[in-house]
Amino acid sequence: MHGHELSPSTIAVGAGRPNRVPGGPLNTPITLASALVPGGASEYGRHGNPTWESFEAVLGALEGGRALAFASGIAATTALFDLVPGRAAVVAPRHAYYGTINQLKERARRGLIELRLVDIDNTQQVVDACEGAALVWIESPTNPALEIADIAAIAQAASAGGTAVAVDNTFATPLRQKPLEQGADFVVHSASKLLSGHSDVILGAVVTNSDRAYAAIEKRRSVLGAIPGAMETWLATRGMRTLHVRLDRAEANARELHKRLSASDRVVYSRYPGFGTIIAFEVVGGAAVAQKMTEQSDVITYATSLGGVESTWERRRRHAGEPESVPEGLIRFSVGIEDVEDLWLDIQTALAAFA
Ligand SMILES: *Cc1c(COP(=O)(O)O)cnc(C)c1O
Repeated sequence: MHGHELSPSTIAVGAGRPNRVPGGPLNTPITLASALVPGGASEYGRHGNPTWESFEAVLGALEGGRALAFASGIAATTALFDLVPGRAAVVAPRHAYYGTINQLKERARRGLIELRLVDIDNTQQVVDACEGAALVWIESPTNPALEIADIAAIAQAASAGGTAVAVDNTFATPLRQKPLEQGADFVVHSASKLLSGHSDVILGAVVTNSDRAYAAIEKRRSVLGAIPGAMETWLATRGMRTLHVRLDRAEANARELHKRLSASDRVVYSRYPGFGTIIAFEVVGGAAVAQKMTEQSDVITYATSLGGVESTWERRRRHAGEPESVPEGLIRFSVGIEDVEDLWLDIQTALAAFA
């Protein structure tokens, strides 16, 4: 059209809209239909829905591949794990999202796979573990430890050895990291987080730039039935229209709050990878203080999940499923788009009362 590549902000706003026809809507309508008229791409609601396609078009354009929406991030993950051949080895980060790791451990216990857990920020260790493996699962930054993987180096070595590479890009979003460009075969998202951005949706996606892989994943979705709802994909598409604006603002807040937390004598350490909206920190007094402080903040909501416009925090080990390698006192802080001074005052008040 213009002969130049559109920037991600413009893609986020404009991709996946209906053709412009007189009287037609600017947004893809919510199609609630279990059956569709034969002759189109699909005729049953488990195989396809026009509202999903709009979400998939935006995410696919941002990631540089073709996207498939799923009922949740974990449903997307499951579809991918299901493609691993019987008893093959899977390499995964020790501190990744616990729902992912727990599913892998369960598959290993049932003898379906061999699980090799690694420190994802130790590239040599990851590359060595990929020897003979069917899949390397990368999460970067990891949830909640915020470790960073060298995706390009791992992808290069893994692909050379015939190991498929999948990256959970939930924390970075395609605006900060494009794994397919770095050599990954699959990108996985929990769209429940930053992509939808308003803490009102559970949704997931797989993105790939291989037509063969796309067909295989689409088949898993139909076979497993882990399909998204039309309403959820519509909300997530609406959320993605402002992704770049929300991300810029939350990131600026996170950068500033990390700086101030790091300088506070009531904080043992604050970790922030330099991009994204998540901070991990520990306070003087450990788990007991962290628990009290997060429960009683005012502006910041004591809640799990992340990536919404509102700031939330929690002590991660309060969840029984969180790996023991995550420190008892670690607070995962999802920074929102509120005024940064209001957030800092809230943190200072909580720190003064408890830490
Ligand atoms: C939340 C999350 C998931 C799981 O996604 P759901 O949408 O909750 O199923 C997977 N990976 C990461 C990094 C997450 O934060």
